[in-house]
Amino acid sequence: MKPRKKIGVLLSLLLLPLMASAEWLREEAAIMGTVINVELWHESPERGRALIQAVMNEIHRIDDLMSTYKPDSELSRVNATAATGPVIISNELLTLIGEALAFSDITQGAFDITYASVGQYYDYRSGGKPDSHQLAMAVPAISYHHVRLDRAGSSVRFLQSGVRIDLGGIAKGYAVDRGIAILLAAGVRDALVSAGGDTRVIGRRWDHPWNIGIRDPRNGEGIVSMIPLEDAAISTSGDYERFFEEDGVRYHHILNPETGQSPHEVRSTSIIGSNATDTDALSTSVFVMGVDKGLKLVNSLPDTEAIIIDNRGRMHYSDGLARIAQ
Ligand code: ADP
Ligand code: MG
Repeated sequence: MKPRKKIGVLLSLLLLPLMASAEWLREEAAIMGTVINVELWHESPERGRALIQAVMNEIHRIDDLMSTYKPDSELSRVNATAATGPVIISNELLTLIGEALAFSDITQGAFDITYASVGQYYDYRSGGKPDSHQLAMAVPAISYHHVRLDRAGSSVRFLQSGVRIDLGGIAKGYAVDRGIAILLAAGVRDALVSAGGDTRVIGRRWDHPWNIGIRDPRNGEGIVSMIPLEDAAISTSGDYERFFEEDGVRYHHILNPETGQSPHEVRSTSIIGSNATDTDALSTSVFVMGVDKGLKLVNSLPDTEAIIIDNRGRMHYSDGLARIAQ
């Protein structure tokens, strides 16, 4: 008994200073045109802060690779020349484009990274949009079938001129997943990483699940619902993020690939799932698909739930959530 007790005392003496300095750490940074937020619990504040920095660095790296705003990004290089011949790309970019194309398949084209063939003519800050002639000319360039990946040759090619791709509907979720992967590999058990409307959490916050708010699409800071989450991701796409209005029409940053114009059936879609790459792509997809088709898709996918706010402000839930809400 005696030696045991001694060890116990020793251990508690060793642990005491560690426990006293362990704390929640949180930092924000402006990357990928949005706010990146990282929050975690770590026994060592110094190590915890270094890990947050590592996550921020990783997200910077992804932005440098995939931003269409940076002329020397790998993605910009693809857009500049892939219509004239195959462009050799990194395995990372190839894999994410491949995932985006797979989402096009399962959403019957609602998710389509070639939306940018028309999307490039919109400027939501200045209220710029394509005129009817530009729209008619550019819409045929929207189709994920125009994008050909050659995995063996590590290259991508566009089968038609005028095609452009943009990973804005999936890259933030991917960045969040990469951030969480860094934290998991370092043994962090409780953390949150978010990039604008894309969030993934591991573990809990204190002894509660994390709580993620779903914003009221028509009332700035208002929250319509709080979602408790552990080891899960949630993404929200809304028509209030980037938009301008003209003659009573809201032009926002999600485009229907069939028309090159913004859909108006819903105001926001939130998807809950196991990782943020999927929830990001699906929130954009379901926004385009609307309530009926969107919920049908979500209900067919494992471990995936949705909350949709339609254009009259009514909330719609996927089957798994509707069961809980009752
Ligand atoms: P954010 O997190 O930027 O609000 P969302 O997940 O709501 O992004 O997706 C919107 C972004 O997705 C747009 O800014 C654009 O880059 C891209 N996008 C728009 N329409 C489509 C579409 N039909 N398919 C794929 N990506 C799209
Ligand atoms: Mg999205």
